[in-house]
Amino acid sequence: MTNRTGVWVDLVGQTEAVAELSAAASAAANGTGGMTHAWLFTGPPGSGRSVVARSFAAALQCTEGEGCGECSGCHTAIAGTHADVHIVEPEGLSIPVAQMRSLVQLAARRPSAGHWQVVIISDADRLTEGAANALLKAVEEPPDRTVFLLCAPSDHPDDVSVTIRSRCRVINLRTPPAEAIAEVLTNRDGIDPETASWAGSVCGGHIGRARRLAKDPEVRERRESVLRIPGSLRRPADVFACVDQLVGAAESEASSMSAARDDAEKAALRTAMGAGGSGKGTAAAERSAKSAERDLEKRQKSRATRAQRDSLDLALVDLAGFYRDVLATKATGAHVTLNHPDRARDSAALAGQLSAAGALRRIEAILDCREAIELNVKPRIAVEAMLTTLQRG
Ligand SMILES: [Zn+2]
Repeated sequence: MTNRTGVWVDLVGQTEAVAELSAAASAAANGTGGMTHAWLFTGPPGSGRSVVARSFAAALQCTEGEGCGECSGCHTAIAGTHADVHIVEPEGLSIPVAQMRSLVQLAARRPSAGHWQVVIISDADRLTEGAANALLKAVEEPPDRTVFLLCAPSDHPDDVSVTIRSRCRVINLRTPPAEAIAEVLTNRDGIDPETASWAGSVCGGHIGRARRLAKDPEVRERRESVLRIPGSLRRPADVFACVDQLVGAAESEASSMSAARDDAEKAALRTAMGAGGSGKGTAAAERSAKSAERDLEKRQKSRATRAQRDSLDLALVDLAGFYRDVLATKATGAHVTLNHPDRARDSAALAGQLSAAGALRRIEAILDCREAIELNVKPRIAVEAMLTTLQRG
C-alpha cells in the first residue's frame, strides 16, 4: 500500500503536488506562514485537477487539523456541499460574466462555518473575457479569508490570462502512470486486477475514463467501434458510414446523459413557476414562466452541445492515439508503450501498409478536426474532411 491518507487518498501519482499542498494546509491550520489566496492547478485532462482542488479545499476546511478525511468539514468539502466551498462549473461552453460576478460577491463575505471562503473554478480556461476581468479584480485584492482555486489544462496564455496567472501559485499535475491507476481501480473500486490493469493501460492517464471503461460495457463498445475505423476505411464510400458512426455515437451519448437531467429541470421549473394555476395575474405569470422556460432550454442546449463535443473529442483522442501507435511501431519496432496496447496487432498491421509520412498526415488530420470543432465548425463537416484524409492518406 501507499502512504496516501486522509483527503489526499483519491489523488493518483501526484506525490509532489500533495506534499506541497499538505504543507500549505498545515501552515494555514497552524497559523504559520501566510496563505496564498490564488492557486492554479494545471495538468492534462484526467490528471485530477478538480479532485486536487476539492481535496485542498477539504484540507483547508478540516475541523480536526489538516485534512483528516473523516470530519464533516472534509466530507462536505469533497462532496461539494460545504457552505463555504463554492464550485463553478461552466453550464455551457463558457463561464459568463454574470456567473463570475455573483461568485466574487459571495467570496467577499466572511466564511459562515469554515475557516476560509473557498472558490473552485473547475474550467478556468472557459472564462469569458468579462468573467476573467471580474475574477482578476478579486484575485488582485483578495478578501482576508478567501482562497481561489483555479483549474486549467495549462498555464499558457490561451488557457489562463497572463495577469491572472501572475497572481497565482501554480501546481503542476502529472499524467498518472498506468500501474497507479490500476491499483486505485482494484483497491478502491473493487475491480478485478486483470480488468483494472487493462483499463489503466488504455485510458491515456485519465482515471475517470479508466473507471468508466472498467465498469460500463457501453463505454467499452464505443471505444472498440472507434478503434475499428482505421481498418474499415477501405473505399471512399466507407467514409460516410464512419461519419455517422463517430458523430452519431457522440450525439446519442450526449443525449442519453442529458435527457433525464433536462426533464427533471423542466419539471422543477414548472413547479416553481406554479404552472397550471389560475386566478389573478395568471396571464403575466404565464408569460414569465414561458420566458424562464426558454432560458432554461437555451442553457440545456448549450450544455448538450458541450457534452456532444466532449464525447466526440474523446473519440478523436483515441483515434489519434491509434495512429501514434502506428507511427511508433514503424519507428521503433514494438518496443514502446502504446496508447492502445490491446490493439497492437491492428496498429502493427497498418504500420506495414503506411509510410511514416502517411501516418503523420493522418495524425495531423485528426488534430485539425479537433481544432475545427473547437472553432465551431459543424462536427459532421469537420469529421468528414478528416475521414477523407484517413481513407486516402
Ligand atoms: Zn477533516
